[in-house]
Amino acid sequence: MGQIIINNLNVFGYHGVYEQEKSNGQNFIVNIVADTSFEKAQKTDDLSNTIDYGTMCIFIKKFFEDKAYDLLEKAANELALEIIYTFTEINTLRLEILKPDAPINADFDSVGVRIKKTWTKVAIGMGSNMGDKHAYLDEAMEKLLEYPQIRNLVVSDYIETRPYGNVEQDDFLNGAATFETILSAEEVLELLNKIESEAGRTREVHWGPRTLDLDILLYGDAVIDTRDLTVPHIDMCNRSFVLAPLNLIAPGMVHPVRRRTIRDLYDQLAKETNAEENIKDV
Ligand code: AMP
Repeated sequence: MGQIIINNLNVFGYHGVYEQEKSNGQNFIVNIVADTSFEKAQKTDDLSNTIDYGTMCIFIKKFFEDKAYDLLEKAANELALEIIYTFTEINTLRLEILKPDAPINADFDSVGVRIKKTWTKVAIGMGSNMGDKHAYLDEAMEKLLEYPQIRNLVVSDYIETRPYGNVEQDDFLNGAATFETILSAEEVLELLNKIESEAGRTREVHWGPRTLDLDILLYGDAVIDTRDLTVPHIDMCNRSFVLAPLNLIAPGMVHPVRRRTIRDLYDQLAKETNAEENIKDV
């Protein structure tokens, strides 16, 4: 891993809340630190195998010529996304935009904003037990691929499992997927909920039949416990229909609370409960 650095890039632009900023424009200073792998560049000594900071400087200059936002928060977010989508070898981007001449009646060097975007590896679980189950899972994965905020999607084989809980219902088809995203965990949940509702998901009976169920299992090594979101998923370690498909594609991912790999957790659950019992067809 290495870092591409741009220090004190001077650009001219029209971001700002005040009329004079919008009409007259002002100078901005941009600082970038982009984490990336230097492996290929170090081996080949070839510019095409790394991020060209010259190209990136021109790219940033053009962004300031073309776009104008009231808030630096918005400008920084839009610029960071454009950089991330264009320079696809970046793993983490830190971006700072400063105004040295902001219209403030005080003595300062500069004021501004700093943001960070990082590709985080996420594991999700999915299930369906109504209608064309296979198609519901496939369509959900196809929808994920439409989002530029998601990359490197890997989908497990689907497995048939007997229903969890006491509701009389059809067998489930379960699977797992991993991907990298620059979305926050809350934004991933929002996206999964949207995909669920597009599949006609209704929530009538707890643990009852559903066209599509998508859960966040792991979000990097984050531990989240809010009203809407518990990550790692609260029940994942007790469910063979979650661990079995995840173990097929990401056995080395680590549960940040249990500090164990998925392979370990799956093996342990299989020993404790004879997990294979509930799985009809791996
Ligand atoms: P269900 O689809 O029945 O599993 O429940 C979905 C609800 O559980 C969502 O509306 C979320 O607010 C909440 N929830 C809490 N933690 C998670 C998680 N890790 N993944 C998905 N939903 C979660």
